[in-house]
Amino acid sequence: MILFDSHCHLDDERFDADREETVARMREGGIGRCVCVGSDLASSERCVALAEKYDFIYAAAGVHPHEAKDAPADYLERLRVLLANPRVRALGEIGLDYYYDLSPRDAQKRVMSEQIDLALETDMPVIFHIRDAHGDVFGHLKSRGGRLPSGVIHCCSASAEMVREYLKMGFYISFAGPITFKNAAGPAAASREVPLDRLLIETDSPYLTPVPLRGRRNEPTYVRYVLEKQAEIHGVDGAGRGTVQSGATGNPLPGERKAYGIPRHRG
Ligand SMILES: [Zn+2]
Ligand SMILES: [Zn+2]
Repeated sequence: MILFDSHCHLDDERFDADREETVARMREGGIGRCVCVGSDLASSERCVALAEKYDFIYAAAGVHPHEAKDAPADYLERLRVLLANPRVRALGEIGLDYYYDLSPRDAQKRVMSEQIDLALETDMPVIFHIRDAHGDVFGHLKSRGGRLPSGVIHCCSASAEMVREYLKMGFYISFAGPITFKNAAGPAAASREVPLDRLLIETDSPYLTPVPLRGRRNEPTYVRYVLEKQAEIHGVDGAGRGTVQSGATGNPLPGERKAYGIPRHRG
């Protein structure tokens, strides 16, 4: 079974001391591919460099809501250059984060909206980071009148009801380590709404280490704990576990440029 860590930050400085060893553990641990996701221009460039170095690592380039206030005037031009690189499979992470509010909300909204426009222009899937802001993101997407990019709601914290709405809009839904936490009844209920061919798993490493390894730095190999939990939540066992994230694993990756190798949802 090939595992797909759909969202990690291998470029993070917490991997500086042992990045090569971490990548070796990924290969040994059955990680067939992963997407290294940018949070600003510099980290997006580091993700692209990693994707150019390792054949099973792909990159996403984008400006995170935390960094929205520091996006330079020419950031869209620079992102456009990165998105043209065939190793880049998505635009992200982008979105709104009202939990930390590290950028003024007006800047967050502007940078998210401009990047959605860029995703539509370049036909790239987006990776949404949304925290305590589902109402505003949903309102914004609705206001676009059906002209939406493909993409994924990463580290999903939405209610089951909101997940149903995102699914109707065609998005994939991804869960990270918090789905394994003891108080994860809400995320588990939300996850049950997601058909397996629209479900992704991720680590968001080095953050959000899953049970039973909490307290350690997270790394892509640990995505198997997220997979195991999703298999339990969705009631699939044995060989059936391979069907968790089947929308992702069912598609050969190089060659397919949509949502990290995931075709645009139709219907
Ligand atoms: Zn995020
Ligand atoms: Zn992330």
